[in-house]
Amino acid sequence: MDLGIRGKRALVCAASKGLGLGCAQALAEAGVDLVLNARSAGPLQAAAADLRARFGVQVTPVAADITSEAGRAEVLAAAGAVDILVTNAGGPPPGLWSDWRREDFIRALDANMLTPIALMTALLPGMIAQGWGRVVNITSQSVKAPIAQLGLSNAARTGLTGYVAGTARQVAPSGVTINNLLPGIHATDRAVALDTGVAQAQGISLTEARKQREATIPARRYGTPAEFGAACAYLCSQHAGFIVGQNILLDGGATNATF
Ligand code: NAP
Repeated sequence: MDLGIRGKRALVCAASKGLGLGCAQALAEAGVDLVLNARSAGPLQAAAADLRARFGVQVTPVAADITSEAGRAEVLAAAGAVDILVTNAGGPPPGLWSDWRREDFIRALDANMLTPIALMTALLPGMIAQGWGRVVNITSQSVKAPIAQLGLSNAARTGLTGYVAGTARQVAPSGVTINNLLPGIHATDRAVALDTGVAQAQGISLTEARKQREATIPARRYGTPAEFGAACAYLCSQHAGFIVGQNILLDGGATNATF
């Protein structure tokens, strides 16, 4: 399918690896020029070079912490006006409700709620002015079904979800859509880190830990960054203009709910 977005320009945040890179790859394959962000310059430069070589698009890497005001300013200055924005950042650490203090919540809200909101605040006006734009926020399955030890993430991402629900309807008349993609377990570095923790705690191998977790997913496997990216690119396509303010789960059926 031709996504109809060749020649458009996208900012993809936190995208040298994992789900962000999956989104960047799918957009590059559709002919979209990219501004690519992550903190560490090495993997970011490597990802940018790979995308340029494979898809012949322009890729501008910006090494910066997207959750800091200075980092965002740097990224936004390099990006200029964009047609497509994909927001992403690392998730808050796990823990217990009784240990979390105000500062922990402020950090989580800054990273996973206020950062995507700041990026939208900066870039939506340009999209509205040109009468076309796409925003995809990478959130989590924890928005639909809480993961108890990820309370900081549950709180921050649910706040973002509420913001998007209203704002998506305010910008839709201008041809701009905002939607959220909710990943379940995907085969990224983060999944390996989680499985390593389980393997160490239970005295089992990494492969056994992964098998245990795969068994809890109806699809019996982890998702891949490539299939996550394909869903993102579709939401950014010309065909998705009637999808507004939605929260789309990509979890292999793991969330046991009718809606
Ligand atoms: P990942 O494989 O660890 O990749 C994270 C990417 O983001 C890397 O490129 C990393 O590069 C960059 N990054 C992290 N923090 C950043 C920051 N502050 N500023 C700029 N770049 C940053 O992670 P992932 O699995 O793709 O997860 C992406 C998001 O989805 C996270 O919020 C995660 O909590 C959420 N999620 C993931 C899953 C899953 O199964 N994978 C499930 C549910 C939710 P640098 O380290 O160089 O900055």
